[in-house]
Amino acid sequence: YDDRDGFIWMDGKLVEWRQANVHILTHALHYASAVFEGERCYNGKIFKSAEHSARLLKSGEMLDMPIPYTVEQINAAKEEVLKANGLTDAYIRAIAFRGVGEEMGVASLNNPVRLAIACWTWGAYYGDAKMKGAKLDISKWKRPSPETIPCEAKASGLYMICTMSKHAAQAKGCSDAMMYDYRGYVAEATGANIFFVKDGEVHTPAPDCILNGITRQTVIGMLRDMQIKVHERHILPEELATFEQCWLTGTAAEVTPVGQIGDYTFEVGDITRRVATEYEALVRA
Ligand code: PMP
Repeated sequence: YDDRDGFIWMDGKLVEWRQANVHILTHALHYASAVFEGERCYNGKIFKSAEHSARLLKSGEMLDMPIPYTVEQINAAKEEVLKANGLTDAYIRAIAFRGVGEEMGVASLNNPVRLAIACWTWGAYYGDAKMKGAKLDISKWKRPSPETIPCEAKASGLYMICTMSKHAAQAKGCSDAMMYDYRGYVAEATGANIFFVKDGEVHTPAPDCILNGITRQTVIGMLRDMQIKVHERHILPEELATFEQCWLTGTAAEVTPVGQIGDYTFEVGDITRRVATEYEALVRA
């Protein structure tokens, strides 16, 4: 992915894709002092750009690494990098991280907080599974407690268990893994939030130790506009057998129907299809 044409925005200027490197003693590489965003641009418009920039700044604050840019500056930088690469439909990845300091150790207050933004073309996250219903594994890793890690931050360190869960899922022929939380409740997938349907009503995990996704919040708003009841609550594993429909939400995943989680199966039903269609229309509006 590093040997190609294009530009990446780094610390205030555009650099050639092949030159967008960091030093091996970058603090983030050793101690996970990094927060990031995944966004999509549709027809030349970044969906919820300001919300993503604001979440990036908030994630930085939560990791004790204030990012030296404003929401407006970050929004403008995203536009600049899209333009430099000639893209109107793209995935955007912003990452803020602690760079190299005078010393190398756990403390990082003397390491500069850097910001880089890349963009590239990225289609459906789950490929063919998109409208057929993705197959999910159940991860052995649990989402940690808010007393263990700042789980509201979109922090790189939280993705270590996601990568391991996804590898295990793919080895079993699944697209992704659903994770339980530290208490045993249904939490989320490795890069997406989860929703269920039962008797015409929607149930989704309360966001008390998961990423409260921007897509999740958008979809909850859409469902309420459709007069469909949404319950944000703790969901027990044994309830999986009682749900009729299931889908994932995320910037990359968009609205992806789920056909199977472990041994539990779901239909790609009416509410799932309606939400997927309306989300598609909204992001392109
Ligand atoms: N949960 C996790 C763990 C994620 O990585 C993502 C993707 N950012 C989401 C949920 C969905 O968040 P969003 O809708 O803001 O992309």
